Amino acid sequence: MRMPAPEAAALAQRDELIAEFRALLGRDAVIADQTGLEVYENDGLTAYAQKPMVAVLPATTDEVAGVLKICARRGIRVVPRGAGTSLSGGALPLADGVLLGLGRFNRILDVDVANRCAVVQPGVPNLAITTAVAAHGLYYAPDPSSQIACSIGGNVAENAGGVHCLKYGVTTNNILGLEIVLIDGTVVRLGGRHMDAGGYDLMGVLTGSEGLLGVVTEVTVRLLPRPETVRALLMGFPQVADAGACVAEIIGAGIVPAGLEMMDRDAIHAAEAFCDAGYPLDVEALLIAELDGPGPEVEALIARVAAIARAAGATSLRESRDEAERQRFWAGRKAAFPAVGRISPDYYCMDGTIPRGRLPEMLGIISGLTREYGLRCANVFHAGDGNLHPLILYDANAPGELERAEAFGAEILKACVRLGGVLTGEHGVGIEKRDLMSEMFTETDLAHQQRLKCAFDPDGLLNPGKVFPTLHRCAELGRMHVHHGQLPHAHLPRF
Ligand SMILES: Cc1cc2nc3c(=O)[nH]c(=O)nc-3n(C[C@H](O)[C@H](O)[C@H](O)COP(=O)(O)OP(=O)(O)OC[C@H]3O[C@@H](n4cnc5c(N)ncnc54)[C@H](O)[C@@H]3O)c2cc1C
Repeated sequence: MRMPAPEAAALAQRDELIAEFRALLGRDAVIADQTGLEVYENDGLTAYAQKPMVAVLPATTDEVAGVLKICARRGIRVVPRGAGTSLSGGALPLADGVLLGLGRFNRILDVDVANRCAVVQPGVPNLAITTAVAAHGLYYAPDPSSQIACSIGGNVAENAGGVHCLKYGVTTNNILGLEIVLIDGTVVRLGGRHMDAGGYDLMGVLTGSEGLLGVVTEVTVRLLPRPETVRALLMGFPQVADAGACVAEIIGAGIVPAGLEMMDRDAIHAAEAFCDAGYPLDVEALLIAELDGPGPEVEALIARVAAIARAAGATSLRESRDEAERQRFWAGRKAAFPAVGRISPDYYCMDGTIPRGRLPEMLGIISGLTREYGLRCANVFHAGDGNLHPLILYDANAPGELERAEAFGAEILKACVRLGGVLTGEHGVGIEKRDLMSEMFTETDLAHQQRLKCAFDPDGLLNPGKVFPTLHRCAELGRMHVHHGQLPHAHLPRF
């Protein structure tokens, strides 16, 4: 994996930089010793590690602005970091860069019941928002499986999704306002406590920008009323393709479940062994559908989904009888990643999206690739969204297996694009999918995206080396004319 080469001019400023940060933030908020820096050397994509030159932990927006001003003046690169659960390497530090940790931004500033929103700092864990507003009968809808740990700032940066996003939308559909600090230290407020922001949709631009455009220092999230009734249905199938077809039938019938998830045999067995969720073990695929709303509506929908499942060949059907059992059904799915971690020394979690009607075809492709690459693959899907999470099992200690797993993963993502889907569903591009961007975008597309980056960060100091496969300097990009896909400035470093 190629990253921007460390610059001697940046490394030479280390001592002065540390002194300047300490004067601004205090001694404890600046981590410069090698043991302390180890904490930050990777994120959820553990195959890659790199200690930053220095890590800083500001606690206020003014401090973030101060840090960024220092970095802009000195030409130092900055990698923002929330909880470090990114699976695409978005928070991987640079050897000559500053790691800007938002962990001390951990307060819920206001719960505004009248406007159904909460104002929170970016380091607050996703689940803590729902916990804080539960007494008001409200919750925050996007629920990544990492929600106990991942931060809301990281969710905004990755436009995170989760099992309930099929009905309620992903992060971008559930935030109302942002405070952002730009690389020159300017503080910008976007949106507010109301539904529509004026002007261009800059919140939409910032959401999912993976720390490349600005640092999020405050988030106003939408809160939803807890549904009156919630029931889950487990549906087991003897064939993976039947489960895929069932998903298409449910959505095609006009039903929008609150969640519609799928697990294959390996994932079912791993999850069941991990947390005793009550899953059938004699099936090849399991669907979990959740229906929510007023009681009679949920009853009617459960009956309709069950009938569709039977017609699609389901051999086992179980409805949750109470809240504890519903939670148990989800516990297996939410713990699927760590559960798979127990059956293989290492796994590589992929994230791509396809039109959901092509799920059976995609499963066939993955099955062929397991044979071609000689590696097992457990499949967990946000099936209703067509968002795949194949978990490729490998052993990092076996020579060549990581490279094989990565090549296998790249083939899956290319197949997603071929089938009319996209490279990522919710985990972001980061470094993981960076070099595959040209599978999906032309040079012209990428140049336009980089022009947007240049408008926010003309010196390319925020999280460089992520998302874009080619490092352009903004001045050159401004003059760039791409003709018939011919790449100008071929001499510029490409990662
Ligand atoms: C077991 C497991 C399950 C997961 N399940 C899901 C899932 O269901 N759905 C899903 O969407 N994701 C999932 N993820 C991925 C991950 O949790 C999300 O991408 C999450 O949004 C990352 O949040 P974080 O706080 O850990 O961010 P980090 O990993 O710290 O950073 C992620 C990116 O955001 C940037 N960033 C972080 N904070 C800020 C900020 N305040 N301002 C600007 N940029 C910032 C970083 O530079 C980086 O590019 C899972 C991860 C794990 C380990």
